[in-house]
Amino acid sequence: MSVRPVLLLGNPLLRAVCVRVRQYNTPELLALVRDMADTLHDFRRRNGFGRGIAASQIGDRRRVVFIDIDGPLAMVNPEIIRSSRQMMTLWDDCFSFPDLAVKLKRHLSVEVRYRDPEGKEHSLKARGALSELLQHEIDHVNGTLALDRAVDSRHIVYKSELERLKLVAGRKEM
Ligand SMILES: [Zn+2]
Repeated sequence: MSVRPVLLLGNPLLRAVCVRVRQYNTPELLALVRDMADTLHDFRRRNGFGRGIAASQIGDRRRVVFIDIDGPLAMVNPEIIRSSRQMMTLWDDCFSFPDLAVKLKRHLSVEVRYRDPEGKEHSLKARGALSELLQHEIDHVNGTLALDRAVDSRHIVYKSELERLKLVAGRKEM
């Protein structure tokens, strides 16, 4: 078990376009996936949110994503092969800027192709929350952050302030 520090906004590695994994089922790849799982679960315990992590967030340049939404799933070399024209608007957040909320648009549904750590190819069709999460994590492997997709700069806010305003407004759409 190895919980690794999560890199924060400003660290140049978060902006790197990550490199394709060419060898599967190696001890190094399996260790990376384990560290990502440990780091995600530790972060979630301490911060009360978190459903996915990209390798670059723990300082590794490989194109690997680990999500845990309906159970754990490690995705190597994930890519979006289809995305809906229909979009959804939502508030997003990220381990690498945990105090901020960002309003952005994502595709309502996507289809993603990836390999598991053993090298077997899979594809996954996702809608809603899973679709949003996959787009967030696949952005990471390309060096793109949720902040880059903000609908405008006014919609980058402190989460605590957003929660306070929602309470004031009776949770009406902001
Ligand atoms: Zn993130």
